[in-house]
Amino acid sequence: MKPTIMDYTRDQLADLVKPAFRAKQIFGWIYHSYADSFEEMANLPKALRAELAERFILNPLKILRKEEASDGTIKYLFELPDGKTVETVWLKMKEAQYDVEGKLLHEAKHTVCVSTQVGCKVGCSFCLTAKGGFTRDLTPGEIVAQVLAVKKDNAHAANRRVNIVYMGMGEPLDNLDNLAAAIRILKDENGLAISGKRQTVSTSGISTRIDKLGQMDLGVHIAISLHAVDDDLRTELIPMNKAYNIASIIEAVRRFPIDTRKRVMFEYLVIKGKNDDIASAKKLIKLLQGIKAKVNLIYFNPYPGSDYQRPEREDMVRFQQYLIDHGLLCTIRDSKGIDISAACGQLKEKTKELA
Ligand code: SAH
Ligand code: SF4
Repeated sequence: MKPTIMDYTRDQLADLVKPAFRAKQIFGWIYHSYADSFEEMANLPKALRAELAERFILNPLKILRKEEASDGTIKYLFELPDGKTVETVWLKMKEAQYDVEGKLLHEAKHTVCVSTQVGCKVGCSFCLTAKGGFTRDLTPGEIVAQVLAVKKDNAHAANRRVNIVYMGMGEPLDNLDNLAAAIRILKDENGLAISGKRQTVSTSGISTRIDKLGQMDLGVHIAISLHAVDDDLRTELIPMNKAYNIASIIEAVRRFPIDTRKRVMFEYLVIKGKNDDIASAKKLIKLLQGIKAKVNLIYFNPYPGSDYQRPEREDMVRFQQYLIDHGLLCTIRDSKGIDISAACGQLKEKTKELA
């Protein structure tokens, strides 16, 4: 199968198409002008346009399904060139604001939640993506294309800011090389120019790869899917915790280069009767001592056949309050798109049921 042209950094493309300055023009057509075909890249010679069309796929994604929630969240199911599917979510984080005369004060803020694999090898017991096992890694271009496709579908101009969270399907650090390439392509100022500061990699905690990501010096943030404060429960939830236990993750986080104004995000999936008690909150405070951390509590989102239950709101709030009272920054993730199959893997599953 032909590779997508979005697989390549500008430098790589400059090696592939001669003369090298064409790479910059091609980047402009793809990422600034949102070109739909090589044919419309008017300032490229006709022969080169034909050559590109011969060698590369321009857009590897086809929208198979789209669900829009009342809060503006849009969930996409994309088909890849080999017929496999992945999900991407367009989240509206802040509404646009206008003054009394109707003048725009600031535009709405959006975040794109991106997938990095078809399926996942980690096999977390609470995760729907895990149920389908692992199919394959996404290529850099298939990762990049998700951001481009949702911006384009929402008529979001190339120069408008978005944040990216690698929190869709798959374990990003299990596909580290392709992830790093995608981050570099997305950062390119001749492309979408999304700085590292605006990109957050969420990981289930492969400690050695957290170190590797740090050494790559990409300037990205990390979010750690911690979910439990003792190793027994964490191993039940995330079997890989046997190899990369809580202590090893905390040590890797301490070594990770963090922008001085930023914090490491710890995701804590709250499951009714499992980890929603104050004793756990206490341990969490101890565990995160001395780390510039922020905790994000997530309601477990049940799906048909899931083994766990959604926690009570009052337990969630009590947990949060306890952390705040003890000096930890803590938010509760508002369940964006709750009316549309919100947790990762759920749209894909629904489509299978319908098929
Ligand atoms: N593999 C990475 C990133 C993708 S999962 C990771 O695990 O961090 C993204 C987030 O979705 C994780 O924090 C995960 O815990 C959460 N998640 C998975 N299944 C969920 C469910 N049923 N309800 C709520 N959150 C879920
Ligand atoms: Fe993979 Fe993340 Fe799901 Fe765990 S929670 S199975 S790491 S996608």
